[in-house]
Amino acid sequence: MSATPARRILAVVPVLALLVLSGCTAGPVVHARRITAYQPTPSASPFAPSTSPSATAKPTPGSLEWYLSQVPTFPEAPPPQPVPLPATGTAPFWHRLPTDQKVAFITIDDGGLARPSAVAEFIWRAHIPVTMFLNSPAAEEHPEYFRQIQVAGGVVENHTINHNSLAGRSYDYQKQEICGAADKLEAVFGKRATLFRPPFGEHDSTTLKAAHDCGAKAVFHWTETVHEGKVRFQTPEKVVQPGDVLLMHFRPALMDDLLAALKAIHRAGLTPALLEDYVL
Ligand SMILES: [Zn+2]
Repeated sequence: MSATPARRILAVVPVLALLVLSGCTAGPVVHARRITAYQPTPSASPFAPSTSPSATAKPTPGSLEWYLSQVPTFPEAPPPQPVPLPATGTAPFWHRLPTDQKVAFITIDDGGLARPSAVAEFIWRAHIPVTMFLNSPAAEEHPEYFRQIQVAGGVVENHTINHNSLAGRSYDYQKQEICGAADKLEAVFGKRATLFRPPFGEHDSTTLKAAHDCGAKAVFHWTETVHEGKVRFQTPEKVVQPGDVLLMHFRPALMDDLLAALKAIHRAGLTPALLEDYVL
């Protein structure tokens, strides 16, 4: 019997949810999902394919098995050392996480434009830590899509309701955009967002105060963008640095963007990690 990846994911989510819940006794779910070297052992994954490919068969380029075969082997991620947060009544704004640990972070924004179907299974099977900064209407329209990624280890965070630039707007407007989205995302995903990314990265001091007042512990920009499989550096080093934050979007080439980000992080001698393990 054949099944599309989307159907397989839907079929295994209850099993996976049980596995994740039962393994979650000492902290966030994501602790059990820290990235390790990809092991091509279908039986170890709740997203296992219904048929076992032959050990010698080469995966078809563009297939999920092909993407999995391209994922580099990373050094073990170091135990996270959370960064100190200022107690100033406002959220810090960071382009890169202030850490010397050999880690970098993958973030995926928006959610309204495209939602490639293989992403959740790719994230689960390759152990890719991701933070999703979602606009709340996209999350409300497609909750199952993002819940599958959440179950696979991804974490949902806040990217406003309407994706308008916040810089220069009133406190009330900004608070409505940030708290309003936080409330809706919490209703859909059962967890309050603790990180915020302003649309276009545009912000002012009011944004950081409003984000703090809506529950955000930190506000993130980015250091690299990834689009259609290409990483573009926005820092002088032109190589991924410890603490760097890579930005991509829910767009048609998201599988290529994830792979390109993993390769760039690997080339730098770093390991992908989860932002939420560092901002507590
Ligand atoms: Zn955006």
